[in-house]
Amino acid sequence: MTSKYFTPETRHRRLRKTAALRDLVRETHLTPNDLILPLFVDEDITEKQAISSMPNVFRHPEKDLPQFLKECRSSGVNNFILFGVSYNKDDEGRDSMKKGGLLHRMISSAKDTLPDSNIIADVCFCEYTDHGHCGPIAEDGDVDNDATIENIAQQSIIAADAGADIIAPSGMMDGQVASIRAGLDENGFEQIPVLAYAAKFASTYYGPFRDAAGCALGKYDHVAKDRKSYQMDPANAHESLREAEQDLLEGADMLMVKPGLAYLDILHRVKQAFQVPTFAYNVSGEYAMLKAAHANGWLDYETTMMETLLSFKRAGADGILTYSAVDAARILNDN
Ligand SMILES: [Zn+2]
Repeated sequence: MTSKYFTPETRHRRLRKTAALRDLVRETHLTPNDLILPLFVDEDITEKQAISSMPNVFRHPEKDLPQFLKECRSSGVNNFILFGVSYNKDDEGRDSMKKGGLLHRMISSAKDTLPDSNIIADVCFCEYTDHGHCGPIAEDGDVDNDATIENIAQQSIIAADAGADIIAPSGMMDGQVASIRAGLDENGFEQIPVLAYAAKFASTYYGPFRDAAGCALGKYDHVAKDRKSYQMDPANAHESLREAEQDLLEGADMLMVKPGLAYLDILHRVKQAFQVPTFAYNVSGEYAMLKAAHANGWLDYETTMMETLLSFKRAGADGILTYSAVDAARILNDN
């Protein structure tokens, strides 16, 4: 029927009428190549261990890493970022700066298992320091920036030596990308790209990850109780552009924004401003919220998750780090 009050000339609904039409005019596409799976490798367990706040995410024993990676690969995931759960912690995280340490072992194992996949080394110290901060502590109780960037270059050389395809520094220290780039170049790794966590915010959405990776703060009285002196203030958008620009000037090849959902405006601005490969981290708290809503029957996990990942791409992400990578790859490959 036609309304006696108004007849629209423009009818947007024409192109939404059938599934085939919707498929034809869709602007944004998600593919398995867009997915990067973060995973936790625990050097002190023999059976995989559930993480209570992240249903269906596990800490994996080192010995099971090859098998788990093969399973993920056969589901269609081809990009992995590894996080160590260390029991050899000290004030600087020295275990991660030496051959034979957990970082070196897990990257070697992953690369040997999947030589044709992208094995990304997250380089930072919070998983390897006894105080849980992202670098050694200065006398004032805060992280010592310049000591950290010297160490993180060493850690990056170790990761590259183990076979890492991409080095991803996440500590938000000033000058860390330049220090890493110089260290890699001096050691014959000039072809290894750097994916900089350019805009990483001091977010409470990381809570479940901190449990998973065993790097909560608060163990020592003289040490800062949060990461607000190095991670960014969630209120700041212009500053994220300055951070991203600086990382590119220092030699970063790719950029990351973290967290994801509450920071899609930052992702969009960074992509628009620099047009370099830009990634978003769909963090543990975002995963936990969705799983909790699903468990209560309030939201459907799969459809909401796929809509979420698509929204990252629409905002400008070239890829997404997500704990849902295997689920998403399976869904994409089934369709
Ligand atoms: Zn860190």
